[in-house]
Amino acid sequence: MDNKKNTLTTGFGIPVGNDQNSLTAGENGPVLMQDVHLLDKLSHFDRERIPERVVHAKGAGAGGYFEVTSDVSKYTKANFLSEVGKKTEVFVRFSTVGGEKGSADAARDPRGFAVKFYTEEGNYDMTGNNTPVFFIRDPLKFPDFIHTQKRHPATNCKDANMFWDFLSLTPESIHQVTILFSDRGTPASYRHMNGYSSHTYKWYNEDGDYYWVKYHFKTDQGIKNLTGKEAEKLSGSDPDHATRDLYESIQNGDYPTWTLQMQIMTPEEAENYRFDITDITKVWPHEDFPPIDIGKLVLNRNPENYFAEVEQAAFSPANLVPGIGISPDKMLQARVFSYHDTHIHRLGPNYNLIPVNRPKNSPENSYQRDGFMRVDDNGGSGPNYWPNSFNGPEPNESVLEPPFEVSGMAARTEYTHPNDDFVQPGNLYRDVMDDEAKQHLVKNIISHLSGAIERIQLRQAAIFYKADSDYGTKVAEGLGLDINTVEELANMSHEERVNATS
Ligand code: NDP
Repeated sequence: MDNKKNTLTTGFGIPVGNDQNSLTAGENGPVLMQDVHLLDKLSHFDRERIPERVVHAKGAGAGGYFEVTSDVSKYTKANFLSEVGKKTEVFVRFSTVGGEKGSADAARDPRGFAVKFYTEEGNYDMTGNNTPVFFIRDPLKFPDFIHTQKRHPATNCKDANMFWDFLSLTPESIHQVTILFSDRGTPASYRHMNGYSSHTYKWYNEDGDYYWVKYHFKTDQGIKNLTGKEAEKLSGSDPDHATRDLYESIQNGDYPTWTLQMQIMTPEEAENYRFDITDITKVWPHEDFPPIDIGKLVLNRNPENYFAEVEQAAFSPANLVPGIGISPDKMLQARVFSYHDTHIHRLGPNYNLIPVNRPKNSPENSYQRDGFMRVDDNGGSGPNYWPNSFNGPEPNESVLEPPFEVSGMAARTEYTHPNDDFVQPGNLYRDVMDDEAKQHLVKNIISHLSGAIERIQLRQAAIFYKADSDYGTKVAEGLGLDINTVEELANMSHEERVNATS
């Protein structure tokens, strides 16, 4: 903060003579309505809070840049990725998901990892998480899923029955649940975790060839996690630990960096692959699609003002640049609507004009006009319709995404490989986790699932068992459940298991 003397004004720039004593009738008399400075100050204060994000409410952010380190021009014509050494300014926001704006940074929860690239072709947002998969793969389930992570309608407390009832009725969640309850569910800080697009995206090149891709921002600080105990303690003693850690490390010149790696797949490979490569509950195994280094993300600038930049930052997977498109991933298809929609609710229809959201390297040149908080020249005296013959901006066909084929019957159908749901979480438990990681996972699950009623515990334990019998057995033992019942439930179809435990 600057200590130099300068004159205080009202919100309208009028000098203020006294900011300690309200205008009263007589020395200790009632306050007068004509104290316009008091009224202005109070009425603005009354409106200081904007709606908090329904998800990802608690977050921290920083600015920096992205630098290309490998030539990927054969895969995408995105200008910001066009040559090695090219740098693009970014703003990044990290967050927890389920808690309110004042909740603890150490909560067991996925972490948001959203990157805004201020490219010369407009803003490109990569809105990922620190997990490569998600709990559900159909957006119709999303509001229900989030309700179960929030507060009980009657008690207004978090509720283990809601949480596990939904997840055990939605077995596609098992992969993400396994990651969430591993120590990766409580990262030591925002600097010590990876960021994944989770979704499959499309890249297309100048010739119109396209590829399916997944983004992996790998932390150069190394993965560091908290144990369940450490996270619980920190939640009480220092609920803002990750927010402060990010700010202080940048302030001290210890800039966090991530290496961007891509997994890239041709349409032919996707066609013949053993599962649907747009299913967000699955990863692409590294062995089949080795990630390749393509760039570096560096955070070297703290926000001057938290509200102006971090709270008002608005990311959307719909913000794509030429060369990058979306895949048929059903969750992604819904997110391209929902993010924009929620920002309009939270920040108003002109949120793209707020400095942190403004396309600063490719100024807006559209026919959008008016609306609350239109704070620029609103298009001046230029035409506000298209087509026009007054030299208004015109579409440029060269930026169109190449046409792509769609086929099939319109229907409400499941993803086509549901039986694979247990393969990858099973591999994660068996092949990736060492004994200590497995112990922590099981302990973390037991400590949370023990808060649910027995029939829900049985249903969920059966799902762990389906992923791996040792995994399910250890959870069942820790909860004191009858292991034969768990095994029986695991061998049932989903419908039978639901009937037997409802
Ligand atoms: P690999 O052995 O090649 O990859 C295993 C990866 O697992 C590691 O590279 C690391 O990902 C990640 N990992 C390590 N510990 C944990 C943990 N406690 N929780 C979550 N992830 C962890 O095998 P595959 O590619 O065949 O994947 C095997 C399993 O690993 C998957 O089923 C999935 O659960 C998990 N995984 C896979 C990723 C992928 O994109 N293939 C990404 C992340 C997890 P990282 O290098 O990204 O840190």
